[in-house]
Amino acid sequence: MKSVAVLEFAAANKRYGAILALDSLDLAVRPGTLLALLGPNGAGKTTAIALALGLFEPDAGSVRLFGQAPHALAARRHIGVMLQDAGLPDTLKVRELLTQTCAAYAHALTLEQCVRMAGLDGLLERRYGKLSGGQRRRVQFALAICGRPRLLFLDEPTVGLDIEARSIMWQTIRTLVADGTAVVLTTHYLEEAEALADSVAVLANGRIVAQGSVAQVRARVAQKRIRCISTLDVAVIAAWPQVRSAARDGVRIEIVTDLAEPVVRALFAADPALHELEVERAGLAEAFVEITRAAA
Ligand code: ATP
Repeated sequence: MKSVAVLEFAAANKRYGAILALDSLDLAVRPGTLLALLGPNGAGKTTAIALALGLFEPDAGSVRLFGQAPHALAARRHIGVMLQDAGLPDTLKVRELLTQTCAAYAHALTLEQCVRMAGLDGLLERRYGKLSGGQRRRVQFALAICGRPRLLFLDEPTVGLDIEARSIMWQTIRTLVADGTAVVLTTHYLEEAEALADSVAVLANGRIVAQGSVAQVRARVAQKRIRCISTLDVAVIAAWPQVRSAARDGVRIEIVTDLAEPVVRALFAADPALHELEVERAGLAEAFVEITRAAA
């Protein structure tokens, strides 16, 4: 049975003066899943989150949070939010920030759980204002998850994190999702969406231009990348049908094509000595660039 959506946009529109920031957005997020919202700057991702948080009303259509209006207190109790701009008091210690925030929830995490899940070892007695950017992001993450939210909004959570901190955050996000938490994640790091997302929605100019699993979105673009070692002239290859680009990097050639098989056949016909052939499917990064370019 399909579980009920914890967050649902139905034909939601949001306009700022002449700018239509969201154009008939339809989106649903279910428990125990992570939706990645992708899109270039100005696509409407932050606006979508603002509507979900009840900061704005849609001009048309509807947004429901746990089946209620997003500004309803009963709905807001079950969300955790990590926005790009946190505005936390600089003078408080991390321990004080966590204790105060945990006190607002009936079933909050313990301080020890917060430290472990957000990677805050050694930071509890530090003042928030004296922390590095990456340390602040970790504290903000702890504050977002400490109330055991059923729906967690993460707006570019790993910006500025080192590899170890990012890995702790990814692991915690995976655990939360496995335990039934729904997550809405915006990110410009496509590898992050590939690593975490159950589904992906690509926004451009306020509209969803692609939606589905990571694999489905990737499959929307058929681009393949071919690499090999060959002495062939890349200018000649670039002129072949279906080849989008061909470039040389030392002895190696890299070709981007819509269809790999005929190009591989033509390569071997032209250079029987060709070797170290690799063919790979475009990653989400390439799919995303392609989809938004097509939409524009
Ligand atoms: P980014 O990746 O840069 O964070 P985004 O996808 O979050 O971008 P939004 O911030 O939702 O995009 O902006 C969508 C559109 O609405 C943009 O054209 C933006 O300039 C416009 N916009 C956003 N907020 C306002 C506002 N308060 N007043 C006027 N226009 C706004």
